[in-house]
Amino acid sequence: MFLLVVAICLLLSSFQAQSRYTEDIFEKSSEEIDNSSGQVDKSLTAIIERTNKYAGQGLNEPSIMFGDIAVSTGLEIAGPCTARGCKWQRSKSGQVLVPYVISDEYSSREKDVIFQGLRSFEKSTCIRFMPRTNHRDYISIESNSGCYSFVGRRIGGQTVSLDRTGCISLNIVQHELLHTLGFHHEHNRSDRDNHVQILLKNIIPGQEQNFDKIKTNNLETAYDYNSVMHYGRQVFLQFAFSKNREPTIIPIPDSSMSIGRAEKMSSNDILRVNRLYCR
Ligand SMILES: [Zn+2]
Repeated sequence: MFLLVVAICLLLSSFQAQSRYTEDIFEKSSEEIDNSSGQVDKSLTAIIERTNKYAGQGLNEPSIMFGDIAVSTGLEIAGPCTARGCKWQRSKSGQVLVPYVISDEYSSREKDVIFQGLRSFEKSTCIRFMPRTNHRDYISIESNSGCYSFVGRRIGGQTVSLDRTGCISLNIVQHELLHTLGFHHEHNRSDRDNHVQILLKNIIPGQEQNFDKIKTNNLETAYDYNSVMHYGRQVFLQFAFSKNREPTIIPIPDSSMSIGRAEKMSSNDILRVNRLYCR
């Protein structure tokens, strides 16, 4: 059953998403633009927020989205999948093969970034993303609306969406691949209350599940504000998923700590992959 949790970054029900399909998902609103530089915020949280209204449209099954996590309809209440068989299989050689196919629609520059993300796991873990031949289970990297993935391996293939319009950066690629490997967001960890405070009263109605606490297997690793799986507190002038311009997530006890600005996997992210798959 655990094969069912899916991860992604942004959401709404597929029905709602469909109705907005024609809109520009990356339309720049005032709160997404840093007024001082005029540049669009490329941080993970910013991209998730921007795309979360439209994600899931490319899924070929009834699914709903929690942030950038896709979950099959009827299985919304998903536990920690790594305890229930959604891990990828380790071969006798000790390597963990994750077959992939990649859409032809990407440019060579975009593919370079995606391949950089795939290969980044080889340097420090036993994970090996390899082109699919006849494998039953695999990931299909596609440019759908939004950046998203399921959590953990699913039987018969699964979509990892890396939207050409906003998801092609190393941190986003690694983030979605970590979901595929079974990892949740850092601020959803079972022990997160010791490290961050969630201010539910400030969260946009319907977006509260982005901040749910999950019974995660933390693999005896430290909570990591710099994990590539940690949401940021702010998208430039706007707090993440906030309905009232007040913070939704603040680190404790030091509220000034930087969170969710990782440009690549942290050493803790890598350690977790090793502890889950490689030891
Ligand atoms: Zn995510």
